[in-house]
Amino acid sequence: MKCIQCSSRDTKVIESRDVNEGEAIRRRRSCPDCGFRFTTYERIERQQIIVIKNNSIRELFKRDKLLAGLYRACEKTPVTSLQLERLVADIEHQIYACNDQEVTTMLIGEMVMDRLAPLDEVAYVRFASVYRRFKDIASFERELLQIRERKVKSIA
Ligand SMILES: [Zn+2]
Repeated sequence: MKCIQCSSRDTKVIESRDVNEGEAIRRRRSCPDCGFRFTTYERIERQQIIVIKNNSIRELFKRDKLLAGLYRACEKTPVTSLQLERLVADIEHQIYACNDQEVTTMLIGEMVMDRLAPLDEVAYVRFASVYRRFKDIASFERELLQIRERKVKSIA
């Protein structure tokens, strides 16, 4: 694969990691000419997932859009980009496992929150506040209490 910085024809793979049980591979590449490093993903090509939005409009599932939202929620938290890639891959895997190529945004939101809660409380609350649009402080505090209870249970 060519270098996106200097267009050199050849780059070297310096690290390869499975992202989701072998369904995707993440590679760190380095250019021997200019030293530039970048990341590529290789994944199985599958049929597109259709997302049904709250206003019942259908659109194609865009993993980059979901990832962008997750990066925003995880800003200045210890959550790594590899963890987020795995989270999204895991969600895609689960949707495909249902054998139903249509899924509601609500279900995706729930799936994200289930997986984000054990990773980082701040990220979870940020994502939930955008997703659920807390009406007031009380509903926000209820949500926070629920994560704390879940955490206590998972430790016990
Ligand atoms: Zn280069």
